[in-house]
Amino acid sequence: MPLVTSKELFQKAYEGKFAIGAFNVNNMEIIQGIVDAAKAEEAPLILQVSAGARKYANPTYLKKLVEAAVEDSGLPIVLHLDHGESFEICKQCVDDGFTSVMIDASHHPFEENIAITKKVVEYAHSKGVVVEAELGRLAGIEDDVNVSEKDAAFTDPEQAAEFVEKTGVDSLAIAIGTSHGAYKFKGEPNLDFERLQKIAKLLPGFPLVLHGASTVLPEFVELCNKYGGDIPGAQGVPEAMLRKAASLGVSKINIDTDLRLAMTAAIRKSFSEVPNNFDPRKYLGDGRTAIKEMVRHKIVNVLGCNKLL
Ligand SMILES: [Zn+2]
Repeated sequence: MPLVTSKELFQKAYEGKFAIGAFNVNNMEIIQGIVDAAKAEEAPLILQVSAGARKYANPTYLKKLVEAAVEDSGLPIVLHLDHGESFEICKQCVDDGFTSVMIDASHHPFEENIAITKKVVEYAHSKGVVVEAELGRLAGIEDDVNVSEKDAAFTDPEQAAEFVEKTGVDSLAIAIGTSHGAYKFKGEPNLDFERLQKIAKLLPGFPLVLHGASTVLPEFVELCNKYGGDIPGAQGVPEAMLRKAASLGVSKINIDTDLRLAMTAAIRKSFSEVPNNFDPRKYLGDGRTAIKEMVRHKIVNVLGCNKLL
């Protein structure tokens, strides 16, 4: 099966009130861990590549690794550009064979965000590729995306409806209180579900996207802390909140921080158990196994996209 777009997957997810997982990939072990999990749980997958991942791994290597995953697993896999910062980078990814791109012009004024997004939509659609855009701004840091709390802004429901109509975009990332990175809330976790419901009501049947949606699993934070430098105050989005969001029109849930934590926890533990090990296959293999188990948990308990094949 070749790479697929997310069109039918989102439709199924929307109607079934579940979400498809979009996992950030940076190297072979991360890709293999995620794909093994999806295969075990019979789940479709979105593998996404950020600007930081392209810089780290070289886009050609990542593309070939994802193609290998498709060939080896036979799973429906979407190759998605995460936070494309310009028309040019989106065009390049469309031309390189990505099946989905995100244009993130959310830092521009509303009309400019519309104009840039529309240009990407026109080009991508002419090549059969789907487009995600963003309206509102999430706080936090992830790779090249860095938004301070004072610059963060929740998505305005009326604007969201106007934005989708004017751009023809296929899905929309919204800001309702999640944030990038491991520190999502200062006090109690709180998402603006009323806002989400308003947006969903104005855009019936339209797939919404939640970025910054790692749960920051305590077991991995504890392992990281036990076997190395502390990650103090880390706090993610509770699983129940993500399940609720999925039931209200969120069809794509992004996960990056949880992958980083799972892999780091496993590698720290691996070195602590066998300090004189110098075979990368041992500790990277342990990282890959941890990612697989974590992603299986997400697919079944958070996303609900298992047994779909
Ligand atoms: Zn994001």
